[in-house]
Amino acid sequence: MKFERYGIGIAKGLRVTIRHLFRHPVTVQYPEQRLNISRRTRGNELIWDKVKCTGCATCAKSCPQGAIQIVTSTSMEENKYEVEQIEVDTGYCISCGLCVEACPFEALYMGYAYERAKYRRGEVVQANEQLLPSPQRQRSGYMYPKIADELPRQTLLIERITEEK
Ligand code: SF4
Ligand code: SF4
Repeated sequence: MKFERYGIGIAKGLRVTIRHLFRHPVTVQYPEQRLNISRRTRGNELIWDKVKCTGCATCAKSCPQGAIQIVTSTSMEENKYEVEQIEVDTGYCISCGLCVEACPFEALYMGYAYERAKYRRGEVVQANEQLLPSPQRQRSGYMYPKIADELPRQTLLIERITEEK
């Protein structure tokens, strides 16, 4: 059996701590400090373009989680579908992005935000106007490089470390 003197472990631990005191940090103090995330992130919400949406329900059919529900009616005057209700249960959504890829009319986008935790189950279900874009609900560049160009450049920790040196 290997013999180790009492206190050697503590000294080793302290040595690691002291060494790190003089190193450049490789993490940030979230949430006080934040880095720009990838422009093509698949945030945990969907953004819906009401004007472009035709109510074809391709997004709902392609969702492996059954997280999208669409109710349409037919407009006899304009001879087209009208979306009465579009509902996304982000509690079931796994942010796979398949619905966004499947939408033939570029009416659905992944969100850029990632802090969307809620206290109540019902609050993660979003419908109609709640799915529209707004300054707080930005579209991600996932699947859409033009949108990605408009978003802030991703902060890479390795660059941050290099800049600080
Ligand atoms: S991202 Fe994936 S899981 Fe979420 S609603 Fe779209 S298809 Fe469904
Ligand atoms: S696939 Fe696109 S156009 Fe069709 S219902 Fe879904 S969001 Fe609307």
